[in-house]
Amino acid sequence: MEEKLQFIDPHVHMSSRTTDDYEAMAQAGVVAVIEPSFWMGQPRTQVGSFQDYFSSLVGWEPFRASQFGIKHYCTIGLNSKEANNEALAEQVMDLLPLYLHKENVVAVGEIGYDDQTPAEDKYFRQQLELAKEFEMLVQVHTPHRDKKAGTIKSMEVCLEHGLDPSMVVIDHNNEETVQEVLDRGFIAAFTIYPKTKMGNERMVEVVKRFGSTNIIVDSSADWGVSDPLAVPKTASLMIRSGVAKEDVVKTCYQNALDVFGKSGKMKAEHWNGSKGVDQRQLFNDNSVLRGQEPKVDNDKIV
Ligand SMILES: [Zn+2]
Repeated sequence: MEEKLQFIDPHVHMSSRTTDDYEAMAQAGVVAVIEPSFWMGQPRTQVGSFQDYFSSLVGWEPFRASQFGIKHYCTIGLNSKEANNEALAEQVMDLLPLYLHKENVVAVGEIGYDDQTPAEDKYFRQQLELAKEFEMLVQVHTPHRDKKAGTIKSMEVCLEHGLDPSMVVIDHNNEETVQEVLDRGFIAAFTIYPKTKMGNERMVEVVKRFGSTNIIVDSSADWGVSDPLAVPKTASLMIRSGVAKEDVVKTCYQNALDVFGKSGKMKAEHWNGSKGVDQRQLFNDNSVLRGQEPKVDNDKIV
């Protein structure tokens, strides 16, 4: 029987997703996720909204994921869109150091440019300095408009601030940007969007053409039209399209673990050899159940 592959989705906004998504992801082989802090759709008006959101990413959401057998990590940062509210951005910057040390925070992110405004530039640079100070990885969101120039600028600014490119994941790549990212020694992540931008078929072609070194697949699933199963679905399409299993494992699991594992906080032993799910557990007296029989895997040995 074919051994079941394990997957990591290193960019997925689980707070916006349902428990059905967690169940489907676990079923499909997703063992770990990284949830970048980002924009919520509704612009925040108070620093307290950021604080509670960051607290949720290091508290409630890892608990919720654990109830479905998935290990949850996150990245903490001021997103590019909200960097444009400078009065609020200043207060958020003061909050960040309180969260970067938390045990599931594997990088500063997702940070970078949206409209490439002066305010976005200012807070991107400040957060790169923060990453250096904390010796952390950086997860960069590249703009969807003016993508190529924005991607190149993001990398140049990282280099200008003295970051090691192998500690920086540049996300939302496409065929136009990947070569430059790899040539400069950065890690190239690809967000698979259903029916638009980077689709699964295009991703298969990218791996065939550019190989699997320093390339990572993610779903970036959030509150918009997106697919939390993008990583396992792309992996299965790769296998069917003749991509070597070794390249599938690298792009859909191992590379993400190798890169984010440099944080010292993300380890395969967190999911391999875990005791499994115990839905009798509570977080601040809250359970994910609504009267269902709790699922308990306490007989699991490895
Ligand atoms: Zn995102």
